[in-house]
Amino acid sequence: MNSFSAEGVILKRRNLGEADKLVTVFTRSRGKIKTLAKGVRKVNSRRAGSLEILNHVKIFLHETKSWPILTEVETKGNFNNIKEDLSKLSLTYLLFELVDQFLTEEQESPFVFDLLVSTLVAIDNSPSLEKAKVFATNFQLKFLSQVGYLPQLQNCVVCDQQIQPETNFLAPYLGGLVDKTCSREVLLSRSLSLEAIKTLRFLIKTPFEEIYKLSLEKKLLKELFDVLNFYTVFFLEKDLNSPRFTLAVEKLYH
Ligand SMILES: [Zn+2]
Repeated sequence: MNSFSAEGVILKRRNLGEADKLVTVFTRSRGKIKTLAKGVRKVNSRRAGSLEILNHVKIFLHETKSWPILTEVETKGNFNNIKEDLSKLSLTYLLFELVDQFLTEEQESPFVFDLLVSTLVAIDNSPSLEKAKVFATNFQLKFLSQVGYLPQLQNCVVCDQQIQPETNFLAPYLGGLVDKTCSREVLLSRSLSLEAIKTLRFLIKTPFEEIYKLSLEKKLLKELFDVLNFYTVFFLEKDLNSPRFTLAVEKLYH
């Protein structure tokens, strides 16, 4: 059997048997994988701390017929500022939900991985929650684009006319914006202000390094958050957010 190593971020863990854990890691080279960490729940296990959710790690694995066995783990980053701040933590879990629910196992996506790590670093270093939310929104939009669900923001998806600079409507099942006239025929849509439309267009074409300079108002951040979740949930069979964090995230924006 082969051994291999991978850079990854720990998304989830669950107990298995007396002393083991099954750890879900989103890796750069192999996508999302599950690995068996044997004996990590024993008191003296030196690996236990390295396997905390959120950690950026390098893992060494030994392939088996079932889950690969974790043989070693090195911590590259542990994002302690996020772990110590419930608001930042809730935001981060929302991003993890996206990665976990949209990407299938072993569907590799180095772009999403790099975007995720950059976003975690940025949220960890964010001086304010508002700033952290800008990075979370940026992640959400660019993630949707990578998995093929970027909403059409230039032309009406019903009549193909150019979107006018006013409030329009976002219709998930049509894949983008619908103008005022056509919105009368569309059942499931959510209004989107001109400012929000402009912000989404700006985010999608702006490289990560320049997002640092952007600051957005609370009200706009909430609008973007609501509408992106409305849009995203449509493509998932179940709601976003593990129930545990739904409330926490709700509180962030209300
Ligand atoms: Zn139209």
